[in-house]
Amino acid sequence: MRYVIIGAGPAGVTAGEALRRVDPEGAVTIVGDEPEPPYSRMAIPYLRTGRIEEQGTYLRKSAEHFEKQAIEVIQGRVVRIVPSSRSAELEDGGSLSYDRLLVATGSQPLMPKVPGADLPGVHPCWTLADAREIAGRAGAGRKIVLIGAGFIGSIILEALAIRGAALTVLEMGDRMVPRMMNEQAGNLIRRWCEARGVEVRVSTQVTEIRDLVDEKLRVIVRDGEPIEADLVISAVGVRPNVGFLDGTGVETRAGVVVDGRLQSSVADIFAAGDVAEGRDFSTGGYAVHAVQPTAADHARIAALNMAGLSAPFQGSLLMNVLDTLGLISASFGQWMGVEGGETAELLEPDAYRYLCLQFDGDVLVGANSLGHTDHIGAVRGLIQGRISLGGWKDTLLRNPTRIMEAYVARAKLYA
Ligand SMILES: Cc1cc2nc3c(=O)[nH]c(=O)nc-3n(C[C@H](O)[C@H](O)[C@H](O)COP(=O)(O)OP(=O)(O)OC[C@H]3O[C@@H](n4cnc5c(N)ncnc54)[C@H](O)[C@@H]3O)c2cc1C
Repeated sequence: MRYVIIGAGPAGVTAGEALRRVDPEGAVTIVGDEPEPPYSRMAIPYLRTGRIEEQGTYLRKSAEHFEKQAIEVIQGRVVRIVPSSRSAELEDGGSLSYDRLLVATGSQPLMPKVPGADLPGVHPCWTLADAREIAGRAGAGRKIVLIGAGFIGSIILEALAIRGAALTVLEMGDRMVPRMMNEQAGNLIRRWCEARGVEVRVSTQVTEIRDLVDEKLRVIVRDGEPIEADLVISAVGVRPNVGFLDGTGVETRAGVVVDGRLQSSVADIFAAGDVAEGRDFSTGGYAVHAVQPTAADHARIAALNMAGLSAPFQGSLLMNVLDTLGLISASFGQWMGVEGGETAELLEPDAYRYLCLQFDGDVLVGANSLGHTDHIGAVRGLIQGRISLGGWKDTLLRNPTRIMEAYVARAKLYA
């Protein structure tokens, strides 16, 4: 059996290793287009803050790791798939034949659609190459503008704010992390950042970026003063890398649509990670989650099915944990609540603590939290287990911090 995996990120590597475990005889090839050993984008902020070196971002630390696993890792860019001949064509003219193919090509960062977004000094923060470029321009006394305070923007904020740079954050929504945090939580994160010297402007839109002399840039916003910057970082969103699948018959919407086995609409072509639009545990619908835990879930299940085992996929629980200048926040599942559901809320603004639980009947279906970290496992366990809380729901409506006790009491009934 010849397995070809396109993309050497977390999804591709996890799938390659899982294939090796379940099919010791199969030939496993991972092809990735970045000129580095497989690495984790999640580690880029730690690289920026100096907590790790570049090698610290590598997914596997030993240079011989893949060789020892008999996994071939090659550098190349796949430009076309031909399902009829089961081949993946490479940019350099070569091709790889496959019996089972995994598309794990991730996503690419979007840039704001405004004049000047292509100027030197305007960057995404997505790859190791981006991190090197940014390092050359950021630093003490530099002025940085970050466009977008979503999940990725808020993660990289700390990495940009340290080392004495003056940081201004511009967010189109009415609060920080608007697609992950409700108003209370998003505004508290904003206040936390402002108290640490970061200027945050919400409900604002960049209309243009202008080139000034001496490598300076000017960011023009719709309502408000323009901002001068040495560096502009864009974190306005991502788009799955699906272009090379045109003409293959593989169905794509936001990403590659996959079924309950992670297979695409074309036989023997599977997809995993940021590129895949898979089942969402909470809604039962399909979504591109674009987070690493979902990439790992997808990759493991896809690999088992590629190897001919039967591994149904229940859907991934969307769960984001964020560290913004030391303030830990998290969102789980249906954090915005469900129709007819009930909400338990505890806000301690001066302590930067907040907990909000969402119930559907007596089942926890979502949560937002800020400044609480001890309950993360319990929240996840209750949601994923769809555990009926019985009388504990009323206890939690009165005091949501008793979530761990509720989990311990109720989870054992399901053990
Ligand atoms: C700065 C930053 C911080 C993040 N922090 C977090 C976090 O804290 N928590 C979290 O859950 N997620 C985080 N993420 C998101 C997380 O990194 C992604 O969800 C994860 O990388 C997805 O893995 P993947 O393997 O699907 O895609 P990727 O990691 O994007 O890997 C896909 C690979 O395929 C390659 N490729 C694309 N097209 C082709 C082609 N045609 N041929 C060959 N190769 C190709 C790409 O270049 C890339 O190397 C962060 C992302 C960034 C940028």
